[in-house]
Amino acid sequence: MALVSKLPSISSSSPKFRKPNSFKLNPVRSIHCTSNSPSPFTEKHSIERYNRDNWVYKSQLEQPDSCPVAPDPGSIRDHEIAAQLPELKRLLEVLREKRDSTGGRERGRGPGNVFLVGTGPGDPELLTVKAVRVIRCADLLLYDRLVSNEVLDLVGPDARLLYVGKTAGYHSRTQEEIHELLLSFAEAGANVVRLKGGDPLVFGRGGEEMDFLQQQGIQVQVIPGITAASGIAAELGIPLTHRGVANSVRFLTGHSRKGGTDPLFVAENAADPDSTLVVYMGLSTLPSLALKLIHHGLPPDTPAAAVERGTTPQQRMVFAELKDLADKITQVQLLSPTLIIIGKVVALSPLWTQSSKEASSLMEAR
Ligand code: SAH
Repeated sequence: MALVSKLPSISSSSPKFRKPNSFKLNPVRSIHCTSNSPSPFTEKHSIERYNRDNWVYKSQLEQPDSCPVAPDPGSIRDHEIAAQLPELKRLLEVLREKRDSTGGRERGRGPGNVFLVGTGPGDPELLTVKAVRVIRCADLLLYDRLVSNEVLDLVGPDARLLYVGKTAGYHSRTQEEIHELLLSFAEAGANVVRLKGGDPLVFGRGGEEMDFLQQQGIQVQVIPGITAASGIAAELGIPLTHRGVANSVRFLTGHSRKGGTDPLFVAENAADPDSTLVVYMGLSTLPSLALKLIHHGLPPDTPAAAVERGTTPQQRMVFAELKDLADKITQVQLLSPTLIIIGKVVALSPLWTQSSKEASSLMEAR
């Protein structure tokens, strides 16, 4: 059910929700936040997030049977956003009262400001100065799985954090629910920040959120982030374009929208040896993509790399020729989020030479 239809229905005269005398956003930890009481509000501190960061958590999409955190039915109920609605409703009431009493003039901004902020691939030092400023001033922040803990640590103590991503044990929030949350809080005058990993407008569904809010008359400001392709290429020393080696770069998704066109249809015109391909969300479809690219003329020995959690301390990677990449990924069990880079430029990385040397010394030892 859409949240917006639930949220405004709450009456401020309801005995359950006493009217606070003054507006004060409580610190995040005051809601449910204890390390043994995770909730969608405070997933920053939850055991699930902790496990994820230690690579115990595995993507439901790509490794459906491998999540070691046995979902406890009781805790799943607690994680339902419906269970958190009273808190949200109360907060909305407070915000609306505040907006009405100040005529929306508080802090020089009217109701309806939403910032769509790219947080980069994980390393907090890859945030823009503008992103840091906006994150520090936010009242309410919605974030998903790709936003790293180090970035969340920048959030002010009085801000509210809402987790709206997909995690094992949680029912993922629908895009509609996220839209409604953004809208309700922006309309109530909160300084709302939607954090998205990488760049919000690169495979981030940022365009859809922007479109929805703008149609409702809400002003959206986009703060770009370093997309995974740029952050990870820099980390590995791979120039995405290079004179005489690659004259273009192409970002692909390995996933298709439900009922959408097969993303692999691009293989025919993407099989260009003078171009670099960067595949987002491509772990599960890589075997068929690689076959199709080779079938359409990309040399099987094209250098390629796959990088899990690039730019973070947990970064893991493999280098291989295109024909062997899927097998190598399976051997080392790379998990989502993983980025795949295919093209001659990969061989320009110092790490490529190193991995080739390691591979040949292994062969000699056999
Ligand atoms: N808006 C994001 C992309 C979101 S799509 C951006 O601009 O980077 C999610 C996919 O991005 C993941 O499945 C993975 O392929 C890639 N990705 C994002 N961050 C990553 C990281 N730190 N390491 C590896 N891949 C990453």
